[in-house]
Amino acid sequence: MEEVVVIGAGPSGLMMASELARYGVPCRILDKAKGPTKLSKALALQARTLEIFDFLGIADPFVKEGIHLKAVNPISRNKPLARILFEPDTAPITLPQSRTEQLLGAHLSSLGVQIEWGVELLSFKQEQDAIELKLSSGEVIQTQWLIGCDGAHSTVRGGLDLKFKGEPFPDIFSLADVEIEWEYPHDELVVFLEPTGVVAAFPMPGDQRYRLIYEHLSGEANEPTLEEVQLVLSRCVGGEVQVTHPRWMGNFHISSRLTNHYKRGPIFLVGDAAHIHSPVGGQGMNTGLQDAFNLAWKLAFVIQGREGKELLETYESERQRVGERLLKATEIATSVATLKNRLALILRGWVAPWLLNRKWVQKKLTRAISQLDIKYGKKGIRAPNTVVYLNGEKTDLFSLWKGARDYKKLVFGLKSPKDPCFWIGTGKEMPPAPGVTLLEDRTGEARRAYRAKEGSVFIIRPDGYLL
Ligand SMILES: Cc1cc2nc3c(=O)[nH]c(=O)nc-3n(C[C@H](O)[C@H](O)[C@H](O)COP(=O)(O)OP(=O)(O)OC[C@H]3O[C@@H](n4cnc5c(N)ncnc54)[C@H](O)[C@@H]3O)c2cc1C
Repeated sequence: MEEVVVIGAGPSGLMMASELARYGVPCRILDKAKGPTKLSKALALQARTLEIFDFLGIADPFVKEGIHLKAVNPISRNKPLARILFEPDTAPITLPQSRTEQLLGAHLSSLGVQIEWGVELLSFKQEQDAIELKLSSGEVIQTQWLIGCDGAHSTVRGGLDLKFKGEPFPDIFSLADVEIEWEYPHDELVVFLEPTGVVAAFPMPGDQRYRLIYEHLSGEANEPTLEEVQLVLSRCVGGEVQVTHPRWMGNFHISSRLTNHYKRGPIFLVGDAAHIHSPVGGQGMNTGLQDAFNLAWKLAFVIQGREGKELLETYESERQRVGERLLKATEIATSVATLKNRLALILRGWVAPWLLNRKWVQKKLTRAISQLDIKYGKKGIRAPNTVVYLNGEKTDLFSLWKGARDYKKLVFGLKSPKDPCFWIGTGKEMPPAPGVTLLEDRTGEARRAYRAKEGSVFIIRPDGYLL
């Protein structure tokens, strides 16, 4: 009998399996594909995802190889509508999904788990004490827990007979990974909002390489050609523009769909298996990674008897709400970007520059995109990072609890606590009890960040959220 079987070795499955392994839970991970994807697919790695990678000690290659986005430039009829700046702490980086999967795969392998490629889950049935899986290899296996990270056409979701409610958008979109010679800096996103449709250019690592996404207005599903891409861009750009070296071109439809349940007994859905939506804002893959990061520690703690099974119910209540909000936000953004009605276009032309040039709007927008402000209920905010001093040396809280696999306790106050915790005193205390790490808040930043009073106690979950 297996403990956990993860179906799908895309980003969500890789995060799920590696997190389980990090907590010491044995698992198998299967994928029907012959090997890792070579397609660039999702490009954006949001700030919260990078924070998680940093916590896991795997951020360096992502940060070194990715393009750090500085700004978004919405442009209409050759006129810049705004320049939306990313603050350093909310800036995303772009990296092809194939490379992200390669790096996550190497992390998984370093934890002793090998992906079983070319093995498809054909069907499954839930027995009294186990789930029986039929695999394309001919194997029939039993498992206690089944995690469906098997993408938009999920076999696991289908086997549970769950709904995947939503709608397709009417437009066909085209994508092209190409090199573009033009005046725009290679670390800024450019979005042309034209009456003929939206055209977006996302910078990718490589000499002047971009992912171009545009609306296929004719409604025909002909594959894009280099000539077509050149024409589309020349129409938007006032000055010189040269498109060369195509690598990947194709058409795609966008649908916005959400499952009605993320969990059924010991079976879970994670990532695209639970939600799909427009790529606007680069949220999809990041949301899947965070679904997995939310679920893995809970499942590990339940399997290890450290928590009761009711903890697992919070996976659905927390992450389904995130999925619902995400679908709403991306539907609105996609509808605004693809407006065709003349009156609506005129209105967008007036409102967009007024709104997008406001500093507070830019801050709200970029923080929402960063996924740093996702909350679980009223209290469940992400524990903020802050500067502290340890033995007189400047450091920060996140560096101190990097890779931690348990709840953490943060105590503000004068009296030495008896239980293990991070204790933020005033620096003049008696030596703390064993297991207590005494920190100083010389600048008052920690008290401000946590809105702490003397005697405040915070419990931080293994995934970094306040309890
Ligand atoms: C063309 C394209 C462009 C995209 N662009 C963007 C973008 O710009 N930004 C963005 O955020 N997102 C984008 N996405 C979406 C993004 O790629 C997904 O959100 C992300 O891949 C989801 O990861 P996942 O692990 O949940 O699912 P997937 O990456 O779909 O992985 C699922 C895995 O499960 C395997 N599998 C499926 N069924 C079975 C089975 N029965 N048995 C065994 N294995 C199975 C599959 O082979 C696959 O490897 C794009 C997607 C596509 C296709």
